[in-house]
Amino acid sequence: MESSTRQQIPATLIPGDGIGPEVVDATAHILDALGAPFIWDVQHAGVAGVTHSGDPLPAATLDSVRRTRLALKGPLTTPIGEGFRSSNVRLREEFQLFANVRPVRTIVPGRYDNIDLVLVRENLGGFYVAHEYYVPVGNDPKAVAVATGVNTRDACTRITRFAFEYALKHGRKKITVVHKANILKALTGLFLEAARDVAREYAGRVEMNDMIVDACAMQLVMNPWQFDMLLCTNLFGDILSDQLAGLVGGLGMAPGANYGNDTAIFEAVHGSAPDIAGKGVANPISLLLASGLMLDHVGQGDLAQRLRAAITETLNTDQIRTRDLKGTASTNEFAGAVVRRIANA
Ligand code: ATP
Repeated sequence: MESSTRQQIPATLIPGDGIGPEVVDATAHILDALGAPFIWDVQHAGVAGVTHSGDPLPAATLDSVRRTRLALKGPLTTPIGEGFRSSNVRLREEFQLFANVRPVRTIVPGRYDNIDLVLVRENLGGFYVAHEYYVPVGNDPKAVAVATGVNTRDACTRITRFAFEYALKHGRKKITVVHKANILKALTGLFLEAARDVAREYAGRVEMNDMIVDACAMQLVMNPWQFDMLLCTNLFGDILSDQLAGLVGGLGMAPGANYGNDTAIFEAVHGSAPDIAGKGVANPISLLLASGLMLDHVGQGDLAQRLRAAITETLNTDQIRTRDLKGTASTNEFAGAVVRRIANA
């Protein structure tokens, strides 16, 4: 299908903070070259939201996502100071984006070859509900810190079913449920119990096993090839997805997708990387791969395949890489090379 005949798809584009605007620019440029049919509505959030309209999650941004039900988002920094909750968490809650999917695949052979893993993370519960408080003792107003995690059977069942359906759709064979049910017996024990219940419905089609999170972290270093999909509670998923990124070259290589029943937001796994922000050296591949997931989501899988092929050829045939991958290319030079690959395909 030629790009001119594709139906236009309205989508919200959030440049975000730190390296966000740089990797979002590079990605939008490449998507243009690809003929991706997105009609972008550019909106702000995070520190950029505060700068533009005094709010880390401005009403206009929320309205835009309510309208498009689809967004590509750069990393958002939570402004320091009392009263600000993470805009990422608020977006997930607002649009009930209960499933966070983070696939990793080796593109540049390195320390680990042939990695092909998908992490599914419960995205709304656990310790991220942020029921936190201090108990004052004597003169110390922060003598004791308390955090409460919340998992519901419904939410655990929903994310497990999502993971199994994902496995069926994508030809995955095994799901490892990651928990700490020996210590957090209620909070993660319920997660494991609900997962086991759902797994019975898929017996013979998708295998399930489980692993305690600390053992899983070690096994991911010792023998990551034993895994196919990981199903994690919110906090463990956050931690282990950075570890998965490390298996395939670092945070510059790891895309993420947040799915709800009627809205999806695509992003990089990494944060705003303030140490390299504004220097033009960030690796845009995480966000680019996230935009590939976005293309898959809206039924433009052919464009997603072309995008992934162009990234692979740029990295491995042309040997053009950013600094984090031991190359010398700037963000824009890398993006330009991907555009040339797309044009010559
Ligand atoms: P935040 O607080 O927003 O999560 P952070 O600096 O704590 O930001 P990340 O942004 O996730 O955490 O990044 C950690 C480090 O990884 C960065 O300091 C940077 O050096 C590196 N990094 C992250 N993303 C990229 C990228 N796209 N390209 C190159 N290096 C990256």
